[in-house]
Amino acid sequence: MSALPLQSLWSVTAPPGPVCSALSGAQRAQAAVIGGGYTGLSAALHLAEAGRDVVVLEAAEIGERASGINGGQVIPGVKQDPDALEAMLGPYAGGRLVATAAAGPDLVFTLIAKHGIQCEATRTGWIQPATSEAALAQLARRAEQWWRRGARVDLLSRNEVLQLTGSALYCGGLLDRRGGTVQPLAYVRGLAQALIAAGGRIHTQSPALRLARVTGAWSIETPEGSVTAPVVILATDAYTDAVNDELRRTVVPVPSFQVATAPIPAPLRSTILPGGQAASDTWHLLRYFRLDGTGRLVLGSRGSFAQTPTTHDAQSHYRAVHEIYPQLKGIAFEYHWGGPVAMTRDHLPHLHELAPGLLAGLGYNGRGVAMATVMGRLLARRALGAPVVELGFPVTPVLPLPLHSLSSVGARATIQYLRCVDGLARVGARLRAHTLFRV
Ligand SMILES: Cc1cc2nc3c(=O)[nH]c(=O)nc-3n(C[C@H](O)[C@H](O)[C@H](O)COP(=O)(O)OP(=O)(O)OC[C@H]3O[C@@H](n4cnc5c(N)ncnc54)[C@H](O)[C@@H]3O)c2cc1C
Repeated sequence: MSALPLQSLWSVTAPPGPVCSALSGAQRAQAAVIGGGYTGLSAALHLAEAGRDVVVLEAAEIGERASGINGGQVIPGVKQDPDALEAMLGPYAGGRLVATAAAGPDLVFTLIAKHGIQCEATRTGWIQPATSEAALAQLARRAEQWWRRGARVDLLSRNEVLQLTGSALYCGGLLDRRGGTVQPLAYVRGLAQALIAAGGRIHTQSPALRLARVTGAWSIETPEGSVTAPVVILATDAYTDAVNDELRRTVVPVPSFQVATAPIPAPLRSTILPGGQAASDTWHLLRYFRLDGTGRLVLGSRGSFAQTPTTHDAQSHYRAVHEIYPQLKGIAFEYHWGGPVAMTRDHLPHLHELAPGLLAGLGYNGRGVAMATVMGRLLARRALGAPVVELGFPVTPVLPLPLHSLSSVGARATIQYLRCVDGLARVGARLRAHTLFRV
């Protein structure tokens, strides 16, 4: 199986980011952030806007990791439905978490407008097309739960999903009007520009190698420098490394892989997601798809755990595109890329206070565009002294996963199992359709 040339579509269409240099020498700051993705930059931006002197240390370049390579789907809420969260955490804490996470898209689109970030932002909603009647029943419950909380989330008929997505594959769905899309790399680069404009410092190619408590502060060492600050925020998500090994063991990185077609010719393009929404369907190994600003279809799904994705990985994504949109057969695929998504055991993002002045936020389970931006603001608020009870999000102890080193084996096995479950469901659906036609 031959290796695949990997390049993200976003890296070709995003405006350039700020020019940053590596940290050298000893610096001081009122707050230091490790990790320059949405979490870290949102935290730093909110701190800088509150008048704090803040420095961000990024191991790579801005947007080289998840925040610059994702699907750009701005999704409200977390994985669990509102009622389930209230049952899990109690009506008060659960209700506040539901409200905090639901407001994610508001924060994203407000920041984009406030800082004039050019990132192809659209806010025409997010669609969940249903792959089975059972999934549609679950979506109906979800819509009803959001309606009860005053959110405009509509249940869609088969025909409405066909009109909105241009795909005849689905039996109904849900439209959440709070969601939307961004060009993810342009968004993260825009946050970095906004931070610099607000007086923040960013050092790229500056991996934090060691983090230690020194008198009344924290000291971070990088290959060529150091930063001392009373407050440090760890914003490293799926890339969390030995700088905090306990934190690293709270998440399991699971690969997600995306493909993008060539620009779709105009008459055909107008049949696909004509309202500009993003969609994530209800298979266990869900497929997420959208158009970009150049009229390419971008589709992502679980990737393989291979070090380098192969043409085999790409083929399964091509099949998914053609299953959803048979009309796209013959359109070339021009970009292939992917990266790890940080999953947690309870499928919730986590905010931790590891020690006085040492905070962390991570584990977005594939829903980080909005939620990581929100997490950044929560971390900034806490760093500025907001009491935990006023955050609207639980601060939880760090609980490394037992047998974490085996977790990727477990994740692989689970993904294979779910692939089989989805495969059998597809065969069942085809057989039912065949029988219906013959009756
Ligand atoms: C392929 C893919 C598709 C996705 N699609 C979507 C989507 O459509 N919608 C959605 O809501 N979410 C999506 N997600 C999830 C979303 O991208 C992430 O949840 C989000 O970007 C996390 O942001 P972050 O800032 O916490 O982490 P990241 O963006 O990963 O940033 C962490 C940063 O920390 C840096 N770092 C790590 N260790 C160190 C160190 N020691 N020193 C300095 N820096 C360090 C890394 O280099 C990295 O830049 C997707 C993720 C992937 C991978």
